[in-house]
Amino acid sequence: MATKEDFYKLLNVDRNASDAEIKKSYRSLAMKFHPDRNADNPEAAEVKFKQIKEAYEILSDPKKRSAYDQFGHAGVDPSMGGRPGGAEGFSDIFGDVFGDIFGGGRQQRSNVQRGSDLRYNMELTLEEAVAGTEREIRIPVLVSCGECSGSGAKKGSTPVICTTCHGHGQVRMQQGFFSVQQTCPTCRGTGKQIKDPCGSCHGQGRIQKNKTLSAKIPAGVDTGDRIRLSGEGEAGERGAPSGDLYIEVRVKEHDIFTRDGANLYCEVPISFATACLGGAIQVPTLDGEVKLTIPPETQTGKSFRLRGKGVKQVRGGPVGNLECKVRIETPVQLTKEQKALIEQLGESLLSGGKHHNPQEHSWVNGVKNFFDKLTG
Ligand SMILES: [Zn+2]
Ligand SMILES: [Zn+2]
Repeated sequence: MATKEDFYKLLNVDRNASDAEIKKSYRSLAMKFHPDRNADNPEAAEVKFKQIKEAYEILSDPKKRSAYDQFGHAGVDPSMGGRPGGAEGFSDIFGDVFGDIFGGGRQQRSNVQRGSDLRYNMELTLEEAVAGTEREIRIPVLVSCGECSGSGAKKGSTPVICTTCHGHGQVRMQQGFFSVQQTCPTCRGTGKQIKDPCGSCHGQGRIQKNKTLSAKIPAGVDTGDRIRLSGEGEAGERGAPSGDLYIEVRVKEHDIFTRDGANLYCEVPISFATACLGGAIQVPTLDGEVKLTIPPETQTGKSFRLRGKGVKQVRGGPVGNLECKVRIETPVQLTKEQKALIEQLGESLLSGGKHHNPQEHSWVNGVKNFFDKLTG
């Protein structure tokens, strides 16, 4: 396998060549090295043709070109697992077809995967979610084997370079014009073989353990929020980096409050008398009861806003409000005396010549207009 050549050199352009220049140069070179036009030495021409094509694939794509400029071949090399900044997803783009070209020549490259990310579902009360909390959690995880320090090889021995793939982790199969590469079946992509496996982890480099973690939940989280504990996921195979642990939050329903982002909502029952005459009531908030003044002649369903009594969200922004919706209760279990008083009140309200029932009044008018329209 040839050593990696500089893409700009391959295309015979300089580093600040324009897209048009790159395209032009690629075209003429592709013509020149097309295997069909090089009957005397088609193999060599095909190699060159593939290199040029590869260089053009990268330099003609602004994103890939900039990754290449920044990180060199590593920036566009699928074997790097998409980890370096800006190069994510390249392995998906190129897949197997170009993989062998990109990886070519580098010794002992490692295809070892980092450990899996784990998800932990955590249920919190509204109070805990709003104030933040700290929880101990126990999770079964694969952790790096202490006996062999994650290498998978027995103490005192070291893994050797895989004889099937010579450390590349991949093997190639020729399929017509392209060579297709596959993960090496002998070493499963690690590029290494363990002759003398560790007894503790049977050569995996990882063992299953229950891990206890203290998870700090920041104040203001809500259902669906995920908290990442970096490196607390599953250990990678044979010393590869660990994955992350994600704590996914679900906030339990609260007896009194419902939440929508930064705002809290609650319903407060008030008496008929308070609704009529006004008065002070106690309403609950997450940090204790506060006094709320109800003005006279308050209608049922009216909402009162308590500023700053909502939630301070985890992503910042202003503290939300608490919206208290009052609901007027119809008195029940009335005594004879009370019934008489209400009857008296009812008559008085009817005889005064004033509209004491604003909603009923407009409703009756609405119905009247409706029928008037029907009858033309
Ligand atoms: Zn081990
Ligand atoms: Zn191998």
